[in-house]
Amino acid sequence: MAHLMNDEPLPAGLYIVATPIGNLGDLSPRAGETLRRADLVLAEDKRVTAKLLAHAEARAPMRVYHDHSSGEDRKRIVAELADKAVALVSDAGTPLISDPGYKLVRAAREAGHAVHTVPGPCAAVAALTLAGLPTDRFLFMGFLPAKAKARAEAIAEVATVRASLVLYESGPRLAETLEVLADGLGPRDAAVAREISKLYEECVTGILPDLAGRYAEAPPKGEIVIVVGPPPAAAETSDEQLDQALDEALAAMTPSRAAAAVAEQLGLPRKRVYARALERGR
Ligand code: SAM
Repeated sequence: MAHLMNDEPLPAGLYIVATPIGNLGDLSPRAGETLRRADLVLAEDKRVTAKLLAHAEARAPMRVYHDHSSGEDRKRIVAELADKAVALVSDAGTPLISDPGYKLVRAAREAGHAVHTVPGPCAAVAALTLAGLPTDRFLFMGFLPAKAKARAEAIAEVATVRASLVLYESGPRLAETLEVLADGLGPRDAAVAREISKLYEECVTGILPDLAGRYAEAPPKGEIVIVVGPPPAAAETSDEQLDQALDEALAAMTPSRAAAAVAEQLGLPRKRVYARALERGR
């Protein structure tokens, strides 16, 4: 791939090309070059990608591709990889990350074709760089399920994972999602990164219940990534955090149940939490 910046023909194969998440200036020189020299560009939405290709001065024909494309469509693309350079892009950011592509990558490799990646913008990683939360371990959760039960289950499943959590969300659903995250994870530190790389980029930080309250009053516009910090190590849980989690739990449960739930949520000894629950419950 080092030769990509010269005028040699692009070797046949599949090129996964990351594109900007809102600021065209983030299209890398290599991504632009790859799009200009590709024989075919696979896009989620041709109208969206047409604007990018115009910006990159690329004239390759486009074809729609997504993971729901039929097996026949995929076979046809894979056959073309034998003698064509095919670039896969998504509407924005890195293909395959909450976007189509993994089935195609797998099929291309199984058929013995070259698969290259042209890395670049990704909202999840960009949000992690803004959040100021631990980045040594993180769990990408994409979009949570829309149905309440499945969503609560997805959150419960990761409640004890010692990693920051990264989620994609839309403005109208943000407050509700922050609320269910607060219910399932307690008053953890979190960040809401919005409109990354665009004119109104912002990153608002706080504990989950406070963020939920803030956005319930004013649902934001634009594209959003939520980052939630890992559960605090037992020794790091402040009395304030414990009390806040307990007060919420005590509103719905007996002191004994509330203590069990909060102890699990915060990774604290049940005895300490129960003693505090009795004091708070008085
Ligand atoms: N493949 C993309 C990537 O690499 O980030 C993500 C595609 S996913 C379908 C779209 C979601 O990514 C949006 O709903 C939003 O949660 C997030 N997103 C994309 N662009 C963003 C931006 N500029 N600022 C904040 N979040 C963004």
